[in-house]
Amino acid sequence: MIIPAPPAPSTPWPLPRIKLHIEDLDHEGAAIFQGAVNARDALHLAVQASYRWLYTVDNPPPKVTQILLILRSMPGVAHTIGTGRDGMEKEIHFSLEYIVHSKARATAEIMGVLVHETVHCYQHNGKNTCPGGLIEGIADYVRLREGYGPPHWKRRGEGAQWDAGYETTGYFLAWIEDTYGAGTVSKLNHCMKNKSYHKRHFKDLTKCSVKKLWNAYCCLLKDDDGAKVLEILSARDDDD
Ligand SMILES: [Zn+2]
Repeated sequence: MIIPAPPAPSTPWPLPRIKLHIEDLDHEGAAIFQGAVNARDALHLAVQASYRWLYTVDNPPPKVTQILLILRSMPGVAHTIGTGRDGMEKEIHFSLEYIVHSKARATAEIMGVLVHETVHCYQHNGKNTCPGGLIEGIADYVRLREGYGPPHWKRRGEGAQWDAGYETTGYFLAWIEDTYGAGTVSKLNHCMKNKSYHKRHFKDLTKCSVKKLWNAYCCLLKDDDGAKVLEILSARDDDD
């Protein structure tokens, strides 16, 4: 299935230059990719997703000038690096083997990975102090919001850590946003624009420490008892 062209941009910022490099056109993954998505439209959609969930008119995205998508043979799934003089030219490296591995649901999985990696092109990182788990959690939060969470993803609470990353943190951030209002995760991202990360950012935004938020979220997953969750959230909180 080819992804249709996305609707007209709903955000006021220009899109970066998009480039595609396919290392090996004979690789099965190259054919699957080209049959599943239109690279230009898919990356435009992924950029719009980062704009939509992480930025506002008062808090515009950084000016990424170019995204080069490289499909190549490599272990793992994908990663993103910044190149160019100011790091604002981005390269997304995407594994051809992983594309073959996901061929049963190629379009959704390719889109999910591209949305996740494109968030890494745009998100703030507290001058490189943001914990890796939160970086990955924000990327999967956007993936989740765009409807590209794969079927095996699970909400995890008790027994896990809030900053375990990926969908564990992504679902937790989605719950924080649903509880404290649209734009909460965008504000959290903004807190890390020119300042170092501090767990206090959560308290500044929600009046609750991240520890307390996590306790309440674990309670919700375990007992699904709204009154109990509210009780936890309104209890005294001496944590930062
Ligand atoms: Zn990532």
